[in-house]
Amino acid sequence: MDGLIMDYQLTIDKMIKRANRVFPDKEIVSVLPSGAKHRYTYSDLYRRTVRLMNVLRGLGVGRGHRVATFMWNDYRHLELYFAIPSLGAVTHTLNIRLFSEQLSYIVNHAEDMVIFADATLLGPLEEIAPQLKSVRQYVVVSEEGKMPETSLSPLADYETLMADAEDDEDFPELSETDACGLCYTSGTTGKPKGALYSHRGIYVHTLMAGMVDMLGIGERDVLLPVVPMFHANAWSAPFICAMVGAKLVYAGQNVQPEALVPLMQEEGVTFAMGVPTIWSGMLQHLRQTGGNLGRVKKLVVGGSSVPRAMIEAFKREHGIDIIHAWGMTEMSPLGSLNRLLGKMEDWPEDRQFGALSRVGKPAPCVEMKIVDDAGRELPWDGRSSGELLVRGPTVIRSYYKNAEAADQFTDDGWFRTGDVVTIDENALLQITDRTKDLIKSGGEWISSVEMENAIMACPGVMEAAVVARPDAKWDERPVAFVVRQPDADPPQPEQIIAHLRNHFAKWQLPAPADIRFIEHIPRTSVGKFDKKVLRSQLA
Ligand code: ADP
Repeated sequence: MDGLIMDYQLTIDKMIKRANRVFPDKEIVSVLPSGAKHRYTYSDLYRRTVRLMNVLRGLGVGRGHRVATFMWNDYRHLELYFAIPSLGAVTHTLNIRLFSEQLSYIVNHAEDMVIFADATLLGPLEEIAPQLKSVRQYVVVSEEGKMPETSLSPLADYETLMADAEDDEDFPELSETDACGLCYTSGTTGKPKGALYSHRGIYVHTLMAGMVDMLGIGERDVLLPVVPMFHANAWSAPFICAMVGAKLVYAGQNVQPEALVPLMQEEGVTFAMGVPTIWSGMLQHLRQTGGNLGRVKKLVVGGSSVPRAMIEAFKREHGIDIIHAWGMTEMSPLGSLNRLLGKMEDWPEDRQFGALSRVGKPAPCVEMKIVDDAGRELPWDGRSSGELLVRGPTVIRSYYKNAEAADQFTDDGWFRTGDVVTIDENALLQITDRTKDLIKSGGEWISSVEMENAIMACPGVMEAAVVARPDAKWDERPVAFVVRQPDADPPQPEQIIAHLRNHFAKWQLPAPADIRFIEHIPRTSVGKFDKKVLRSQLA
């Protein structure tokens, strides 16, 4: 129509061009494997992104090609995050913790052409290299620019390629519907499945995720994403920071509290992101050392359920707000995020914490509905629970080259999340479980997540994971694997059960013999409780 607004393509190259123009002197700090810190600015990042685009061109990378990264969080991973899509190619972030079988499956399925790998991570690649069919070039990223001994071939060194490359700024015209990134879900069931992102999806996600009532990150913030860059776009941190000009801090490979605390203090971190395990470990560490997190005001925690006890402890002991987030790789990844609403300001604390332990309001641009087994839509009343369906510009419309998983998408354009949820009158979402983790006892459901959270609020408990065990009479019964706090009075099964009585019906309670104390809970490659392993331990 005449006079209509510009058809301006929302593409990632524009983010890095803008960062160079508008925030050239803002810093990016990375801890290197040696422990030394590397510092440079957004204008350095831009200059090196341009060079890297020329390096990629020299390697034959063009439109639509998949280029993989096998790296920790640092500035060179960030350069790849911008250079690959700016060239019209696709950044495929490989999870460095995957088993070799899954890793080779993913590389072959994605048909990656080049793999950029940290020098400290070559071992797993060497192991699978004979099976990789599409890889034409390995590029090693090392601290000193020295080539390590390796069987990978052909091999090039990142800094040598960069030193030899031209500085010509040659950005191709891109379309916002071009693919720009690829990430496989960690595959707790079946084969890993690929989520293919578009420039538009990432751009929209970045604007949405940065909003004040979402992550609310601004130019004055100093962001430490402990969430790995190899998983789910690092929750958009690289893109949001470039857009708003926030200082970025990368911890590299050591994400133990002993390393993070001084880093956060020295760099003036105001905002950090990561999965609950990182922060539960941090809380213990701070208690033991009497330490603090300096200027940190907010922690975004998600990826698995955040126990209310953790939210309360950070607020009471450190004045830090935990922002509970829910998302999925398939959703770029943010789906919902919890902020205290205006009307909750004068609620009693107990009620506030209750609201804050839910996973929050649907993100702008993410449409949600709950359905029952027959596909009928359920009300948002805080009680009706069913599977959550989502759709929107940041949600994938199918898995990459995977017809078998087609049933996760409805004919009328919704994605089935596999999460069982309720949504209350305040539009606050609560994840009750994953469909496959629910426990069905005597025909009734028990939520494993709710039981875990309740156990974790019990004094002396550090962590808990609940799974179903087969039962002749009831079909399934809950079994709780519990890790006790090292320096606390060890709670006994009867005490835990007594505590659970406040939250669960009698028939839902685990038997004392089904409370099992273990040293640590096995994790998946992205740090979630690995319930598959726990179930196999039961068998
Ligand atoms: P995968 O673990 O399959 O690789 P993702 O990392 O994308 O996949 O995880 C998505 C799933 O993680 C969600 O479907 C949900 O079950 C779980 N999840 C994410 N955030 C939360 C949260 N805050 N509370 C409970 N579960 C969560």
